[in-house]
Formats: sequence, structure tokens, C-alpha cells
Amino acid sequence: MAKEFARAFYDGMSWRRCRKAYIAERIAIDGGLCEQCRERLGYMVHHKIPLTPENINDPLISLSHDNLEYECKECHDREEGHFIKQRENRSRCTFDAEGNPVPIILREEE
Ligand SMILES: [Zn+2]
Repeated sequence: MAKEFARAFYDGMSWRRCRKAYIAERIAIDGGLCEQCRERLGYMVHHKIPLTPENINDPLISLSHDNLEYECKECHDREEGHFIKQRENRSRCTFDAEGNPVPIILREEE
């Protein structure tokens, strides 16, 4: 959900045009894959530097392709969560020879 201060921005023509151009660019590069996992197709355009009431009117942040990332819903939802969750990513699982998920145990957490 867009935050209240960002609603006008996301509804505006500048963002719509920027978003469309960015997606077209990603599709030209790799068919529009999620830039995080590169497994699923992108679903939404995410701002790497999160928008705030202070920077939303700065096109170098809000409309710069350098600050954008095309992400699938799973990756985006994970990022939208809390910064604490990003740390948990370090303990994501790996896969054994048969493709079964195996959790990685981090020694420092024992
Ligand atoms: Zn993804």
C-alpha cells in the first residue's frame, strides 16, 4: 500500500511514465525478471532509497532509474517488511542434492 504522502506521486503522470519506461528497459535486458531473485517475473517497481516526504519531489530519487528495481511480489514483500527481516535472510535455506530445502544453521546464533 502506498503511504499517504506518496499517493499523489504514484497517481501522477511522471511516475506512471517513469515506471513504464523502466519496465520496458528491464524487459529489453532480461525479459523483465525480478532483479532480486532473477527467478520470477517482476511485479512492481521498487525504490531502493525509500521515498519520504522530503525526497519524493526530488526526481533524482523518485524518478531516477538508478534508484529503481524491478521485483517480484515475494521479494518486494520481504523488503517492505522490517529491516530485521533482512538479517534473517542470512539464515535462508539451501538445497541438498535431491533438491530438498536444508536450513543453514548459523553458529553465531547458537
Ligand atoms: Zn524476486
